[in-house]
Amino acid sequence: MMDLRVELTKNPKEKPQGNLGFGKYFTDHMFVMDYSPENGWYNAAIVPFGPIEVSPACMCLHYGQEVFEGMKAYRNSEGGVQLFRPEENFKRLNVSNDRMCIPKFDEAFLLDALMKLVEIDQEWVPREEGASLYIRPFIIGTEPSLGAHSSTHFKFLIIMSPSGAYYETGLAPVKIYVETKYVRAVTGGTGFAKTAGNYAASMKAQDVAAEEGYSQVLWLDGVERKYVEEVGAMNVFFKLGDEIVTPALDGSILSGITRKSVVDILKSWGMNVQERMLSIDELVQAYKDGKLEEAWGTGTAAVISPIGELKYGDLVMEINQNQIGPISQKLYDTLTGIQWGKIEDTFGWVKKVD
Ligand SMILES: *Cc1c(COP(=O)(O)O)cnc(C)c1O
Repeated sequence: MMDLRVELTKNPKEKPQGNLGFGKYFTDHMFVMDYSPENGWYNAAIVPFGPIEVSPACMCLHYGQEVFEGMKAYRNSEGGVQLFRPEENFKRLNVSNDRMCIPKFDEAFLLDALMKLVEIDQEWVPREEGASLYIRPFIIGTEPSLGAHSSTHFKFLIIMSPSGAYYETGLAPVKIYVETKYVRAVTGGTGFAKTAGNYAASMKAQDVAAEEGYSQVLWLDGVERKYVEEVGAMNVFFKLGDEIVTPALDGSILSGITRKSVVDILKSWGMNVQERMLSIDELVQAYKDGKLEEAWGTGTAAVISPIGELKYGDLVMEINQNQIGPISQKLYDTLTGIQWGKIEDTFGWVKKVD
């Protein structure tokens, strides 16, 4: 296996106090690794956090050849540090790499390097209730060239940010705007890859929805504007009577690790959960029939985000009287319980750092 060089900082930073917010502060160290056609992935190192030097002609800056991941390290009840299904993030990053013409990397090596990085910066994992260390692995095309082709050189980095609780005042339902004009992704495109361009493409709709007082948009499919896909940058679930539905992974939907975990938890409770196509018309009909009982988004940042209101054209659908539903609450308690080590991890999802 490749060597991992470690260079510790000589100037450790003050840890931030008070409200951490999200993604604003960074730990003392970061992981870096380079790719060239001659060497493959090489130069893996943990080094002091700081600016990197790239050419202004660097390809990711012009053509967006980039992939990323988002995961967290949690402070458990014994005071130790643990990760949640980190191998899934590296697996998915290689799936994104394949789509974005970025060379694959050794997942086992990266997992070891991440464990080492978190161990070195473990004092940065917050101890406040609900706070965690957000981890951002990402890869950029670095070849200095304006030719519109795949980059020959790449850089892999992992940076880490102590972040506050997502819900400062506890779990709360959000208002969602069903987007019928803009689309995030199409089948055959890059929707299933975690890549910068998908986010750039979604900001306009997000801004318009925010101006109207909605916190996220519900994306419909890019061809017919008919089938439900995701909510903001989260996967989405609906309880329609006795059935719980989440859109099937059709190529334009990101395969969330929280989504996958929620499906497994619901099945372990003996619930009827289906991954299938769900049209907005079926959702509206279910609402009219009084069967749209609960809705929630899933993602690493929020874990579970209950949906209290859905606006589709002129129709405003209030869900569960704009209150957190029992399934949403139970899922939130179970997942966060496992992640922060407050309840037993019967699924084998937690990886301790020691
Ligand atoms: C990251 C992401 C998700 C959620 O994935 P998790 O692995 O659960 O964090 C969902 N949708 C999009 C578009 C994303 O980028």
